[in-house]
Amino acid sequence: MQDWPGLASQMRPPPDHGETSYKGSGRLVGRKALITGGDSGMGRAAAIAFAREGADVAINYLPAEEEDAQQVLVLIEREGRKAVAIPGDLRDESFCRQMVQDAVAALGGLDILVNNAARQQSHESLADISSEEFDATMKTNIYAPFWTIQAALPHLKPGATIIATTSEQAYDPSADLYDYAQTKAATMNYVKSLAKQLAPKGIRVNGVAPGPIWTPLQVSGGASMEKLAKFGGQTPMGRPGQPAELASIYVQLADANASYATGQVYGAAGGAGQP
Ligand code: NAD
Ligand code: MG
Repeated sequence: MQDWPGLASQMRPPPDHGETSYKGSGRLVGRKALITGGDSGMGRAAAIAFAREGADVAINYLPAEEEDAQQVLVLIEREGRKAVAIPGDLRDESFCRQMVQDAVAALGGLDILVNNAARQQSHESLADISSEEFDATMKTNIYAPFWTIQAALPHLKPGATIIATTSEQAYDPSADLYDYAQTKAATMNYVKSLAKQLAPKGIRVNGVAPGPIWTPLQVSGGASMEKLAKFGGQTPMGRPGQPAELASIYVQLADANASYATGQVYGAAGGAGQP
């Protein structure tokens, strides 16, 4: 177990974000992406894959995660792509708005926005969730994407895409994730609302719904020790997923060739979970 927000570089076994395995084939050449929570987990897997597909990538993360972020920035630059670091706390509205302005300025525009960062803290009982804790989860998982998308919209041209990381928790919530699970249901829901609103503007909005994936979020308070001991074992595949196993899904949803897909949620949960 680690203190929140946790570092991928301190996890044993280390997660696989596709560092040595992901091979690009020019699917996102010249695209400009901003990924929140791009230092670790699914965000890092998407950042590596996007760069290898030819995109310039800005990542946001918490200042405490600088060590993980530096590893990602090096990998993006190794592909000859622009790597932009935007550390800061998404619970702050003015930071969310500044983050978008900084990304647009550094990348020279924006056409892929991945709202991936999230807070997940396990609580056996609703009675254990303080108002401050509840608020932090709502701010990170619901308000931050709202502020971020609002700031990004004036910059998004036809062909741009928004991708949200939701969860199997949106459909089948665990008893110990009362607050988190409802934010993931909200995420799934905003994908579908916004897809309808933005379709006439040529902007697609889709989601990814992971099952149990081996990331810092799970080992820094997201899952109980009891859950971690058999993490992913209840899935038909009998194991947790690695972030690398979801990288191609983010690429697929970002790829302009997926031009008729909007308002969709793509699951990856080892044979369990929905959708
Ligand atoms: P992760 O810990 O690697 O990524 C979460 C990131 O959120 C962190 O790296 C951190 O940078 C960011 N973050 C959290 N609070 C923040 C704040 N206040 N300000 C700025 N950044 C903040 O874990 P992950 O599992 O890759 O999480 C990525 C997404 O996947 C999340 O949306 C999570 O809900 C979702 N998800 C994860 C699982 C899983 O089993 N790991 C399952 C379903 C959905
Ligand atoms: Mg992290």
